[in-house]
Amino acid sequence: MVFDAWSDSSARAVLQLMVESVAEMVGFEVAVLSVVIGDDLVTVAYAGPEEHRAHVEATDPVSVIEPVLARSEPWGERLRFIEGASLDELEGHWVEVDQVPSAEPDAWRADSGLLAVLSDDGGTVVGILSVDRPSSGRRPGERERALLERYAAQAERAVLTAFEREAMIQRINHAESARRLIRTASMPAHPSLEAVLRDAHEPLVAGFDARGTWLHVFAADGPGTGMIRNHEGEELSLPEDIVELAKAFAPQLWAEQRVFLIEADEPAPGVPDSVLQHLGDRGLASMIGVPLGVGAECVGFLALSRRPYQPAWSQAEMDFSLQVGHDLGAALMTARALERERALVRELKELDDYRTQLFATLSHELRTPLTVIAGNLELLGGLELDEAVARLHGAMSRGADRMQRTVDDLMLLARMSHPRHPLVRLPIDLRAVTDDVVSMLDSTARAKGIALDTRLADASLVVPGDATEIDQLVGNLVSNAVKYTPPGGTVVLSADRVDEHVVVRVADTGLGIAEEDQARIFRAFYRTENPAALSEPGTGLGLAIVATVVERHGGRLDVASRLGEGTTFTVALPAARAG
Ligand code: ADP
Repeated sequence: MVFDAWSDSSARAVLQLMVESVAEMVGFEVAVLSVVIGDDLVTVAYAGPEEHRAHVEATDPVSVIEPVLARSEPWGERLRFIEGASLDELEGHWVEVDQVPSAEPDAWRADSGLLAVLSDDGGTVVGILSVDRPSSGRRPGERERALLERYAAQAERAVLTAFEREAMIQRINHAESARRLIRTASMPAHPSLEAVLRDAHEPLVAGFDARGTWLHVFAADGPGTGMIRNHEGEELSLPEDIVELAKAFAPQLWAEQRVFLIEADEPAPGVPDSVLQHLGDRGLASMIGVPLGVGAECVGFLALSRRPYQPAWSQAEMDFSLQVGHDLGAALMTARALERERALVRELKELDDYRTQLFATLSHELRTPLTVIAGNLELLGGLELDEAVARLHGAMSRGADRMQRTVDDLMLLARMSHPRHPLVRLPIDLRAVTDDVVSMLDSTARAKGIALDTRLADASLVVPGDATEIDQLVGNLVSNAVKYTPPGGTVVLSADRVDEHVVVRVADTGLGIAEEDQARIFRAFYRTENPAALSEPGTGLGLAIVATVVERHGGRLDVASRLGEGTTFTVALPAARAG
């Protein structure tokens, strides 16, 4: 339906009214208005008998006007009269209404036609208004022609205004779709600053009909980063003083929620000549400066430029640009926070790598001299020693043993954290592991007066994993339970099958672990400050090993404890698939 060619229906309503009043006031039964949209001549308004309405809906190339005008007789600035010659080319923009001509010499005939050619300031045709069927039955006289000429001038203005409105609406629609695009383009799941700066350019240029964009994001502690690009997306550079000026100005604009318009040929307060000069040098007519931010914080700014032949910035466009400032501000803020987080993770990782490296080197270096010491102590132990020397020998042997255990733990931790030591999984039966652990610790438990029980389910307790690591995992939990449980207590080691997991549980009735310590005990070298726990020998490495082993095996680790009542560690490891 041609009447829908324009998006702004209120503009069409104005034109319709215009046409109706022309018909009525100048005394014609029929009036038709067609306007030029793009390369087409499109009928947009009609006044006259209903039965003719269907004939006045047409879209034709603009060129159809030319031959008709060539055959016409000028009746004024805009009016053209036609008679005798066919008006076929304009069919649909004009109604041929049969009228029985009177005998008068100035009678209106069926082939008479009167058009007003509407043009813009530059003389380009923007539409035609045609009238037919004068109520007098005659050609309009001097007075009516003058009146019609006046109405045509008004129609011309109405059409031009409608065009301007339409162009503006189109631009706003563009800006709106640009806003949507920016929202989606600049907010992927994990946006990087660079991606936001890069991806916003195209929708901004398209949406705001801009010649170029300049997007800058402030850094918390430095000059920040910016990107200036022309229409084709090439990166450009700007003089330093302009960059500084924009940076200083943006927070103020954000505080006032305002967009700043600079026009090359219009000096304005606060705008140095160098800026105007720069715009002129680049062949730009105008620029808007838009602050970007979130809440009270201005995070950067955006500048959009236009060339002289492009339309001036409308208020609506500037308002939209400020909304885009909010969207981009949010996107940049998220990206900046994520970037900081990534940097922090990198630093922590480096620190962790360093620590692992230190562990590995230290334990390696200690191992050889320790072997020598232990070997010699063993040799000494085989000799007849007098009592005092035997006591010293015993103390040295216990010390060497402790060092040996620490070094072993450190080496195991370092090995597990090393990327070149991936986990090699073999089927490990937890039934066998628990048997080994219990037979190793049973005498210690018994000597301390602690009952060490095992409860194993009948189901398969096989997990895919590393034998040494799983051994350490269960061994450390049970030896801790025995170590931190006073005489008379109980330690229960159970293993069960729960869905796809083998669940190992070590429960004791010992010292318990304070709530605030429960998250920290898995860190390397961490020992609680509980004096009763500290009186037991330990390095603080056992649970760090447990946590690392569980993580490497894709399992879960939990601790439930109450100070003075006891502790239960629960480990769930993915079970081996049957068959
Ligand atoms: P270590 O036993 O060598 O000190 P761990 O890493 O094995 O080191 O344990 C860290 C700390 O957690 C211990 O110092 C102890 O305070 C506490 N802890 C571990 N297991 C238990 C337990 N079963 N009952 C009470 N406290 C425990």
